Amino acid sequence: MYPHYDTPAETAVAYTAGLLDAVGTIAVDGTEVTITRPATPEGADTVERFADVWKVGKTRTEGEWCAWTVVHPRAVEHLLTLCLPFMGEQAQRATEARERAQAIDSQGLTWTPGEERWLLHHWHHSNAQIAEALGRTENAIPHRRRALRPDARPARAPRGFSLDRILISPQGYAHVPGGCVHYVDDPAAAGWGWIPFPPMRVWSEVSADRPARATAGNMARTASRRCPDCAVFLAP
Ligand SMILES: [Zn+2]
Repeated sequence: MYPHYDTPAETAVAYTAGLLDAVGTIAVDGTEVTITRPATPEGADTVERFADVWKVGKTRTEGEWCAWTVVHPRAVEHLLTLCLPFMGEQAQRATEARERAQAIDSQGLTWTPGEERWLLHHWHHSNAQIAEALGRTENAIPHRRRALRPDARPARAPRGFSLDRILISPQGYAHVPGGCVHYVDDPAAAGWGWIPFPPMRVWSEVSADRPARATAGNMARTASRRCPDCAVFLAP
């Protein structure tokens, strides 16, 4: 599963799965998994240990009960994926809950401290690699990079980067996917155009004298300027 989450020992996973099966609550709408224990010292110790071993979720005590609750969809997905092989009675419910969690787009989901730590530790990885590892969209990564390290130099294309398209914004700028923070999540919906598989010279020749015209998406778009961040990204 996602590398930024801890994968507990198999015994701990199996124990979690067993308790989930027996006394766990798996939400049918939204994503929430809870294990509730009596608010005795032993019960409190159990829920604290879940939070400690999994490093996700929160514990709370209410009256006679204490509970460990995991809400973040990516954490729910992670937890249930690992527990499912050990589950019985609630396996069907867990499968459905996991599918719901997977269907939730990461866009707009709060970044967890674990995700941010993972990004900082893998700063030199490409946006695509980070996005895949975290289950987030590629466009979300440069935004987060800028938030985490405002002074960091603009990203550079990874070695062997091949330009699979030039994107053209409504403002007439040419962009490279992953090269900057201007790129929108859905270029087609935002009225952008693009040039699929362009020879590199198309990028270098973009100018007011020789604007590049989109050949896909919104083909009315032309670029007369290169985005400065994307130029740095592609610079040799
Ligand atoms: Zn750009």
